[in-house]
Amino acid sequence: MELRIERAIKRALSIHKKRALAAASAQHLTAAAPPDAFGLDAWDSSINDEVLPIIGNVMEDLATSVSSFLQLSPEIRAQLLGKIDVASRTANFVDKVRTIGSDISAQLIEELTVGIAKGEGTAVLARHIDSVFDVGNRIAERVVRTETHGASEGTSHASANAISAAGYEVTKSWIDTADERTRESHRQAAADNQDIPLDQPYRVGGYELDYPGDPDGPADEVIRCRCSQKYSLDGALGPLKSGDMPDL
Ligand SMILES: [Zn+2]
Repeated sequence: MELRIERAIKRALSIHKKRALAAASAQHLTAAAPPDAFGLDAWDSSINDEVLPIIGNVMEDLATSVSSFLQLSPEIRAQLLGKIDVASRTANFVDKVRTIGSDISAQLIEELTVGIAKGEGTAVLARHIDSVFDVGNRIAERVVRTETHGASEGTSHASANAISAAGYEVTKSWIDTADERTRESHRQAAADNQDIPLDQPYRVGGYELDYPGDPDGPADEVIRCRCSQKYSLDGALGPLKSGDMPDL
């Protein structure tokens, strides 16, 4: 599911890269950098037309996969879907993607201003543009990974809340990935936060997070986090681990 979104963003970026190359070669003789080689206004439309629908689809898949995976009663399923605000989850994700464009646009203006002032020709300017977009693609991968993880943990968190609202007693545990890339604070979080009440935040590195990848948490504790959660429910529902959700 990450890949679908990543591909859409990279497709949009490649269109804007062509635009930047054309703008730089058209303007390098005027000794001034094009004011908006990236095309920031058009970036908004690219995101709205090409990326937003795909993120919306992924969020919908996520929301429905949780309720069908749990095989809950129709009443609880309806409550669940009501709790998982797909539109606002999609909007949050898309906002993060939009910022990739403003970063690249600012970087391009800087590179082109310096390059053109130095009298660099089209071929050299094109190499600067290449490297700015290479960095842009890496940023896109990181944003997609972080946001997809946050959205997927957030969705299962909302599901657990709905199940709890339906009268089940729900506890949650922080699960770290237990490899060399895991943050020390997240290893500690797994040790400190086992079977805690659902409505209590996790204590992670001195901060409070509602779930791994919580977008309200500090970037230091959220970016590239791969931790997940395990929910335990009383009654006949059995344990639910957020990482058990089917791959979309
Ligand atoms: Zn983590």
